[in-house]
Amino acid sequence: MFKILKKKILAPKVEMMVIDAPFIARNAKVGNFVVLRLNEKGERIPLTIADSSKKNGTITILFQKVGKTTESLGTLKPGDRILDIAGPLGHATPIARYGRCVLVAGGIGGATLYPVIRALKKAKNSISVIMGARSRDFLIWEDRFKKFSDDLYITTDDGSYGRKGLVTDTLKEVISNKPVALVVAVGPVRMMQAVSELTRPHAIKTLVSLNPLMVEGTGMCGSCRVNIAGKTRFACIEGPEFNGHEVDFKELENRLGFYKKEEETAYKLFKRKRQKK
Ligand code: NAD
Repeated sequence: MFKILKKKILAPKVEMMVIDAPFIARNAKVGNFVVLRLNEKGERIPLTIADSSKKNGTITILFQKVGKTTESLGTLKPGDRILDIAGPLGHATPIARYGRCVLVAGGIGGATLYPVIRALKKAKNSISVIMGARSRDFLIWEDRFKKFSDDLYITTDDGSYGRKGLVTDTLKEVISNKPVALVVAVGPVRMMQAVSELTRPHAIKTLVSLNPLMVEGTGMCGSCRVNIAGKTRFACIEGPEFNGHEVDFKELENRLGFYKKEEETAYKLFKRKRQKK
């Protein structure tokens, strides 16, 4: 059982939790994720380790309440416990001295880029960050991103803060100004696809973090199959980051919608039960 130590609401339906998990914290590397399960009958969901502290023995997760499991997770308070957290899982992000790096953070998914930005900065790279959100209210961790970036661009779809438009509008400009060695993008699948299409003609190394359906997270069940350069790979043990120019995004999007009906039914039942309480 893993005790929740802190909880904070970051944006509408987006929460952050600091969890007591000393073994995971001791072994966590940049880009790793965990798979958690709330109770014995619960589904397992993958969540990126958005921060960790070896000293305090804690990990930080961010989640968006989009379905039964994440809504249930959101009902827990400091002092409550989560049944299982498996991790750290996945390969670490390759951190090296690349030169100029552009990090594209789309919405809640993008916030999990924070440890990558910090590590790339520590490795003496020049860092440009493009953060995008639907509107100002959905922008998360601007202060943390600012601390480690040389240039920070903010975009909102509705123009309520920063530049009006998508992250890709700004990326076009940023990559045409000066040579870029590496782009890392995390966010909605369509955003990661659009980023990869923009960087392809410039032959810029582009990493995307994939979040396919995962069940056990150790490569045995095969639920997290993704098609990379025509080959089936398992995102949980071979990812979560892959070369964006090799990802079959269409297949990924289809697979993400595979259990949509069941997810909607479970969510409806969950909401009905909560209303009755
Ligand atoms: P969102 O839909 O509000 O999008 C955030 C930003 O991404 C937008 O403001 C826009 O700038 C950009 N964007 C979106 N669609 C685009 C497109 N077609 N082309 C170019 N840019 C586009 O994001 P949200 O509601 O915060 O949702 C977060 C998303 O992140 C979810 O889809 C979730 O599955 C994903 N996510 C991914 C990971 C991961 O590791 N890849 C982790 C957590 C969440």
